[in-house]
Amino acid sequence: MMIIMHPGASRQQVKDVVVCIKDQGLSPHIIEGVERTVIGAVGDSRGISPDVFSTLPGVESVVRISHPYKLASREFKAEDSVFPLDGFSIGGKEIAIIAGPCSVESRDQLLEIAQAVRQAGAHALRGGVFKPRTSPYAFQGLGEEGLEYLAEARQLTGMPVVAEVMSVAQIEAMVKYVDILQVGARNMQNYPLLRALGEARLPVLLKRGMSATVEELLMSAEYILAGGNDRVILCERGIRTFETATRNTTDINAVPVLKSLTHLPVILDPSHSTGYFEFVTAVARAAVAAGADGLIVEVHSDPAHALSDGHQSLKPEMFSEMVRQVEAVAAAVGRCLAPVRNAAQG
Ligand code: PEP
Ligand code: MN
Repeated sequence: MMIIMHPGASRQQVKDVVVCIKDQGLSPHIIEGVERTVIGAVGDSRGISPDVFSTLPGVESVVRISHPYKLASREFKAEDSVFPLDGFSIGGKEIAIIAGPCSVESRDQLLEIAQAVRQAGAHALRGGVFKPRTSPYAFQGLGEEGLEYLAEARQLTGMPVVAEVMSVAQIEAMVKYVDILQVGARNMQNYPLLRALGEARLPVLLKRGMSATVEELLMSAEYILAGGNDRVILCERGIRTFETATRNTTDINAVPVLKSLTHLPVILDPSHSTGYFEFVTAVARAAVAAGADGLIVEVHSDPAHALSDGHQSLKPEMFSEMVRQVEAVAAAVGRCLAPVRNAAQG
């Protein structure tokens, strides 16, 4: 339920509504708008009459949210959420590009790629250190050693860093090093992990599960939001279909569908969506044309020898060309790329 306060409602009236929400066994989530305050009353409200709240002083109206996800819905918050990061924002008019290797493989590899993607116009650096590999015999990532290299790359280039968290136990170490915690497709419905991330103080980049519906993705985001972390970035990364010509099938529909259902930023991963570097640039262009707020792209300076996902990694010069093309598409749809601060350092 959403409790919409009168524009002139006092602080005390807002407080009284919050107390009443808690008394009903629901949890309050306050949004302070320019004109008025809106309070979400989240939880199982099936047996609760809206009159419980509508009769309180200062309350203008009470609306039930029709979707099963509440805090994530546009009904709860009409304006796009914008999350400022170091040097750029995600979710506004500007498009953000996150790029880097699938896995952090060594200090030299990461620093070289970090500088190359920064030079080409990336805003944030990606690099996995805990890797969810299909085979237990495949490279599993460098772990904490890799986190140190990510922190060094951030220092060198000024870019915030993104890395995947696979378990609750990893969160504590990761928050010391990274700026955005990525939840991979395989963990989209790892509810204990989502709950723990609700308490984390970092933005979460939540990737869509390979067989998850848009609604299931939004329900997973709701777990994080309900835990008190309001910074969730959604990522379409391709879904499993009967098609075998590509690694996954890019659900381009998901971009405008998500943008209509939620205020959260929506980005697209053209690397895992396609699985082949030859198709990455075309799908990146399509994502921006469809209204995505950003991209997360795998880049490697020596894809043939990459320890994971080399076949879908762009070389830095291809990435640079992708950024140029995406910039042109952004302009065509009335948007622009976020400016790159301190590019000279990179
Ligand atoms: C990745 O980003 O390297 C990754 C493993 O992605 P996904 O979870 O989408 O498969
Ligand atoms: Mn990968």
